[in-house]
Amino acid sequence: QSTLKSTGKDPYPDWKAGDPVPYAALCTTFSKIELTTKRLEILAHCAQFLRQVLRLTPNDLLPTVLLMIGKLAADYAGVELGIGESLIMKAIGETTGRNLKIIKEDQHKIGDLGLVAAKSRQNQPTMFKPKPLTVRGVHEGLMKIATVEGQGAQGRKVDGIKKLLSSADTNLPKGQTVDITQDKGGPSEAKFIIRALEGKMRLGLADKNLQVAISHAMVAYAVSQDGKQVPSETELKKGEEVFKAVYNELPSYEVIVPALLKGGIWKLRETCKLQPGVPLKPMLAKPTKSIGEVLDRFEGKDFTCEYKYDGERAQIHFVAHDSDTEYAATVAPSAGKSERGTSNIFSRNSEDLSKKYPDILAKLPTWVKKGTKSFVLDCETVAWDVEKKHVLPFQQLMTRKKKDVKVEDVKVKVCVFAFDVLFLNGEALVNKSFRERRDLMYGAFEEVEGEFSFAKFGNTREVEEIQTLLDESIQASCEGLMVKMLDGVESHYEPSRRSQNWLKVKKDYLSGAGDSLDLVVLGAYYGKGKRTSVYGAFHLACYNQTSEQYETVCNIGTGFSEAILAELYDALSPLVIDRAKPFYDHSTGKNDQPDVWFEPRYVWEVKTADLTLSPRYRAAASEFGGDGVHKGVSLRFPRFIRVRGDKKPEEATSSRQVVEMYRKQAEVGKDKKTAVDDD
Ligand code: ATP
Repeated sequence: QSTLKSTGKDPYPDWKAGDPVPYAALCTTFSKIELTTKRLEILAHCAQFLRQVLRLTPNDLLPTVLLMIGKLAADYAGVELGIGESLIMKAIGETTGRNLKIIKEDQHKIGDLGLVAAKSRQNQPTMFKPKPLTVRGVHEGLMKIATVEGQGAQGRKVDGIKKLLSSADTNLPKGQTVDITQDKGGPSEAKFIIRALEGKMRLGLADKNLQVAISHAMVAYAVSQDGKQVPSETELKKGEEVFKAVYNELPSYEVIVPALLKGGIWKLRETCKLQPGVPLKPMLAKPTKSIGEVLDRFEGKDFTCEYKYDGERAQIHFVAHDSDTEYAATVAPSAGKSERGTSNIFSRNSEDLSKKYPDILAKLPTWVKKGTKSFVLDCETVAWDVEKKHVLPFQQLMTRKKKDVKVEDVKVKVCVFAFDVLFLNGEALVNKSFRERRDLMYGAFEEVEGEFSFAKFGNTREVEEIQTLLDESIQASCEGLMVKMLDGVESHYEPSRRSQNWLKVKKDYLSGAGDSLDLVVLGAYYGKGKRTSVYGAFHLACYNQTSEQYETVCNIGTGFSEAILAELYDALSPLVIDRAKPFYDHSTGKNDQPDVWFEPRYVWEVKTADLTLSPRYRAAASEFGGDGVHKGVSLRFPRFIRVRGDKKPEEATSSRQVVEMYRKQAEVGKDKKTAVDDD
């Protein structure tokens, strides 16, 4: 059943032990992955390739793994690709000597810049044969492109792209050609370089699958060292579990891969543990429709209701100078160093926020008790009214500068509200009960008014008391309540999961408005009347994590002030592209096209009256799009709430969540099953 079926021939015979991993070999694997949608086959191709890397060139395992997920480094390193189309087209033109106009025409026709590059490259006569690309070389080249800054950065980015493209596709193995009309362009290096530059590999190779593939390759390698040909299913399962558990606590290939190479998979649990300096993916909550639903879910269990503060998620990491705990050496360069120790603040998507909140780091020694030597704390930063001594709305927080903030310039003061501790004094706490973690948290920190507080809570099962807490939380400018399991395995901290053991109850849900969605802006329509100089309506999508596509879900033109529309126009107009990206799943109907399409960059929070099946929008299409009439789900009466600067497009509401929301609504008996879209 598993990746073991793939123990046949090596996928790339020309590569010998000790050679740097040929990039062409990786692209050959990519193109095989691209031609299937079956998860097991994808895993098999992946694991087989990784085994070959382990056997022949283990030192290249890290860049190989990173290129496979289309990343250059862990999120906290802040290295991002996502290069815009215009720069890429310029580089393709200059590398291949083709006119930019022709490149643009090609792009308009083909719609996939990767294929445009492959085509341009193939038609180009080569005078001499450049050195073939290696995986390490491509990783380094992309890294340079992503990190150039300062004057002339754009030009140097183009130079970097040209350098990579001019060596691409010169070393295809015998019998392999790049034919963009067949097999999605096959193993073209140019195509995959462009995809990496665009920040979307589109292989259906989610991070979770890659983790399984790595673990299988490592297990196979381990048993082969013991002279065994093939690992058992039990060994493979065990390997998967080890890798997953470690990755959950320490989501960094930069730390895990060297440890794997040094000690193998079976020692990984001892060698790699939660470590301050490497942010965990935060645990998230499921929405609920009513207090009754909360009581049903937690029946017979002890739970706690905390205020849901409306600010920005912040994971604070700290190690005192005199602690035995090590701060991860891979940490982002802006680690705050103070007299007490080293610290960082990370966002919900593991970005380093230390330069946004130097004021928090400066005050940290005032609320960390003397005996507390190391910790990872889960918190919300909230704007704070110094005079009136209370929480301010989220909008205030958004007015703070995002980078290079100087403590003396801070105008919007923030207070930290701590609700969980994941690591304390050298020990990971994620597998302790929440009751224990909370007790430990209260013992290790002290409240300082306006700087640091514990999240307010009440432990009660009485409906009236929960209702009172909810009302009080709203009075205190919070969004509602977070209800959490207190004891046992169900109360453990589950990194990167949207868990049933954390429920959110927002004021809005109770009025029937449902949870808001966070959607990606893919396109826009020019305004009419007063709004002719700006965009007046927008085309939004959710994200399908399995197919790695954005699926359209509604048009929206409500909830915008004139001032906001002007701001949005300024932010979005530089992102206009010639046509929809190949990973936009949208209606092709003639009347359904927005006036302009954008690079996927912005995520907006949107409220909706309800969800409905739609003959044109594509959200959750694989679930609801098959009845001949409907194409997917759409929103009725969507209304813009705010820009979500803390979410990347891939973190938008997922198609799976849309399915859940739709189903939940149907359960409540609100399902109208209309085929009417509402713009
Ligand atoms: P939302 O728009 O509701 O914030 P989300 O997708 O960002 O959605 P959710 O899982 O839905 O995240 O809600 C949890 C978020 O609420 C956390 O990420 C955190 O930022 C915030 N929060 C505020 N107070 C608490 C608390 N007491 N416990 C946990 N999270 C809290």
